[in-house]
Amino acid sequence: AQLDTLDIVVLAALLIGTLAYFTKGTYWSVPKDPYAASLANGGGAKAAKSRNIIEKLDEAGKNCVVFYGSQTGTAEDYASRLAKEASSRFGLKAMTADLEEYDLDNLDTLAGDKVAMFVLATYGEGEPTDNAVEFYEFISNEDLSFSSGASAAEKPLSNLKFVAFGLGNNTYEHYNSMVRNVTKFLERLGAQRIGAAGEGDDGAGTMEEDFLAWKEPMWTALADAMGLEEREAVYEPVLEVTEKPELSPESDEVYLGEPNKNHLEGSQKGPYNSHNPYIAPIVESKELFSVHDRNCLHMDIDVSGSNLSYTTGDHIAIWPTNAGKEVDRFLGVLGLTEKRHTVISVKGLDATAKVPFPSPTTYDAAVRYHMEICAPVSRQFVSTLSAFSPNDEIKAEMTKIGNDKDYFHEQVANRNYNIGQLLHFLSKGEKWSKIPFSVMIEGLHKIQPRYYSISSSSLVQKNKISITAVVESIEVPNAPHIVKGVTTNYLLALKQKQHGDPHPDPHGLDYAITGPRNKYDGFHVPVHVRHSNFRLPSDPSKPIIMIGPGTGVAPFRGFVQERAQQARDGEVVGKTLLFFGCRKKSEDYIYENEWEQYKQDMGDSFEMVTAFSRDGPKKVYVQHLLRERAAEVDELLRQKAYFYVCGDAANMAREVNTALVQIIAEQRGIPEAKAEEIVKAMRTGNTYQEDVW
Ligand code: FAD
Repeated sequence: AQLDTLDIVVLAALLIGTLAYFTKGTYWSVPKDPYAASLANGGGAKAAKSRNIIEKLDEAGKNCVVFYGSQTGTAEDYASRLAKEASSRFGLKAMTADLEEYDLDNLDTLAGDKVAMFVLATYGEGEPTDNAVEFYEFISNEDLSFSSGASAAEKPLSNLKFVAFGLGNNTYEHYNSMVRNVTKFLERLGAQRIGAAGEGDDGAGTMEEDFLAWKEPMWTALADAMGLEEREAVYEPVLEVTEKPELSPESDEVYLGEPNKNHLEGSQKGPYNSHNPYIAPIVESKELFSVHDRNCLHMDIDVSGSNLSYTTGDHIAIWPTNAGKEVDRFLGVLGLTEKRHTVISVKGLDATAKVPFPSPTTYDAAVRYHMEICAPVSRQFVSTLSAFSPNDEIKAEMTKIGNDKDYFHEQVANRNYNIGQLLHFLSKGEKWSKIPFSVMIEGLHKIQPRYYSISSSSLVQKNKISITAVVESIEVPNAPHIVKGVTTNYLLALKQKQHGDPHPDPHGLDYAITGPRNKYDGFHVPVHVRHSNFRLPSDPSKPIIMIGPGTGVAPFRGFVQERAQQARDGEVVGKTLLFFGCRKKSEDYIYENEWEQYKQDMGDSFEMVTAFSRDGPKKVYVQHLLRERAAEVDELLRQKAYFYVCGDAANMAREVNTALVQIIAEQRGIPEAKAEEIVKAMRTGNTYQEDVW
């Protein structure tokens, strides 16, 4: 077969990529984590980091390591909770370890009086999280050998004691496959699992309870296996927070929300990544619809000059800022309002402790920019905080909530309280001044950037990334508060400010729009780009079928925009069939005019099939439309169409999968089991792709 230019370009890129991969760290340097520099700055100078975990444990006098494979921060958070409990309840000397930061080819030398814990999230289609890829490649290799020379066949891990917990989502096919596989591989190498391998299910919304339920029998088994004595848990700080009255918040070395040293020094420098955001200008912002309490934003973010690049189908991460109202509530309930601009230094009490944000900083900046203060409260954290209650009555209530799952649900979870709201409610406004600030930093998550499917085409607007986001505003009957999504309400506030809207948020949220030291002034937002595998076929003449209800249509706006451009450029563009659904044509049919334009560009090759669930007597959803078009869908699949699904992971994606299986079975007169295999093969062959959340 002849190679066309595109093929050659792709092959060349693959070759360069492969070379680069295998020479990583030898001929090209892995970008250094600029955040590490700022932490070193806060925590004293550090020597070059060793990747040897055995050495690290010995140096730090530790006998328990909790490895984590984490994508969004939850697994990392569970890992640090396990490490804290290991020391506070059982006197183990525990540390957490990012799997990416160590080579585990000497795991066979971990002594039998130590224990390794693995907290592993499963990502996407049963994949390891980014930071666990290398570890997974190593441990899954049947022919692996350890640095000591020991081969897999010799059961080299027979001294190793390990425990494992997985974070997964049962709406995905490969539910918790990371923890299942890693457990299997470790056992194959002779390692001794202590207790059952736990599995948390985000799909059922029971992650936290699954974790708590798994932990207790695991601790019993571990105490048994290692001869540990349980003791009354006492809070042992991992971090030390010191007030620095001698420093003014205006001093140059004080972080007021800057994500790292480069940003502090005013010289934001690439490469921009998940440790180092680019402060990007928002060139356009608008509301695609706004009805009752629901609205949807469109934003164009300029990345020219940043060296950030994207490909149609990628994700952009937005780094949020907490609403002023929540920051005020949180600081207020802790009795820190007066001291909010006092400078604090945050240090790890030993070399293995990680300070989650740069220091010195202020209470205000730490809470506003770095701590996830609006999220649901965990039951375990209520238990931790009970010791610091303002009085015995509140302490008794906190203890009860912490110990009783049902009572916790009734009093806390069902009311959608965040931590500030809960503390305020329980103490009726009395200050919780006994809570050390380190407890809050250690117990709450580090604020996480939120991902958005890029809704533009890189072919059409290389330097301008579009996002399409529904503003989160969740009201439930029993809850005294409306939950306002952190990031989307921040984006809404940016949009409102940019347009000079006279009435920003009716709920009184207000944001530090201009950012630390006004560095985000002129409408900027911190972002980075995450590359995905959600891709158009490289050959535009291939047919595609896209299922994207609601904001699930976001990446498909990019796909169609790209194909419309290709059509305008005179390329042959294959059938481009988009299934879109929303509530009402007159309300939330987003980009309606644009679709018209694309239709003109592409003619019959573009077709949009729409479902409006609240316009008629019967609720119609995308999966119904798909069934109505069964014959055509099957015909396109026979022509090797690519099939894409984007949006709601919990229900829609699964129902679309089921519908497709039934369509193939009916149209081809084959049993459903056979049709299921065909769909599975499509997934493996990348012609069935999902971008779901
Ligand atoms: P958050 O503050 O994160 O809240 C999210 C939800 O958590 C709330 O709605 C509520 O259900 C729950 N919650 C929060 N606090 C509490 C509390 N105190 N009590 C009880 N429940 C609570 N979204 C889009 O709109 N468009 C996209 O194109 C898009 N693409 C995505 C692509 C990927 C790969 C992923 C992973 C997600 C994508 N999302 C997209 C979702 C997006 O990342 C965010 O999750 C979403 O915008 C909500 O973010 P938020 O910060 O506004 O809300």
